Amino acid sequence: MIERKVNGSQLELVQGDITRQEDCEAVVNAANAELLPGGGVAGAIHRAAGPELLEECRPLAPITPGEAVLTRGYNLPNSYIIHCLGPIYGHDHPEEELLARCYVNAIRLAQENEINSIAFPAISTGAFGYPSKDAAKIAIKTVLEELPKNPGLKLVRFVLFGEKDFEIHKNELRGI
Ligand code: ADP
Repeated sequence: MIERKVNGSQLELVQGDITRQEDCEAVVNAANAELLPGGGVAGAIHRAAGPELLEECRPLAPITPGEAVLTRGYNLPNSYIIHCLGPIYGHDHPEEELLARCYVNAIRLAQENEINSIAFPAISTGAFGYPSKDAAKIAIKTVLEELPKNPGLKLVRFVLFGEKDFEIHKNELRGI
């Protein structure tokens, strides 16, 4: 695990599974526009949360790239799920801004709901095809900018599924 203090808050990088972050009040879903289960993170989150999640999601969909919406966590160990729609690489433009907006909007929702800890997957880097290094640069830069503006948020954790993605994020954080 990698830790970095940012004012009164903590930024962490871990390799792991987004559905197993017991100590975070909220986890972020790398959602699809319809907020349906699908594969990757969304599939894992819906499987772990159970069918009630889909019922809460239905009236909130569709969402647009960069948007974030909040639901309860149901059978996940987290009170809340923040569903973000990342940009599809090469399709949704401007992709850098839309990806950054996911992190800004998720952190804003956390602050508004007095959530003090949140875990993010690497949004858009799976099915949506965003190159991991470029996405990591945006994700880390955006979180480092937003954390000091949201003092109620005490912990932001990036949960990277694979070792390669973990290394990429580690190197990006080192470079800042
Ligand atoms: P997107 O459609 O936004 O690209 P994906 O869910 O396809 O979202 O993938 C986003 C990233 O999350 C990828 O790097 C993928 O390897 C990773 N990932 C997949 N499953 C999990 C999981 N259970 N926990 C954390 N990260 C995951």
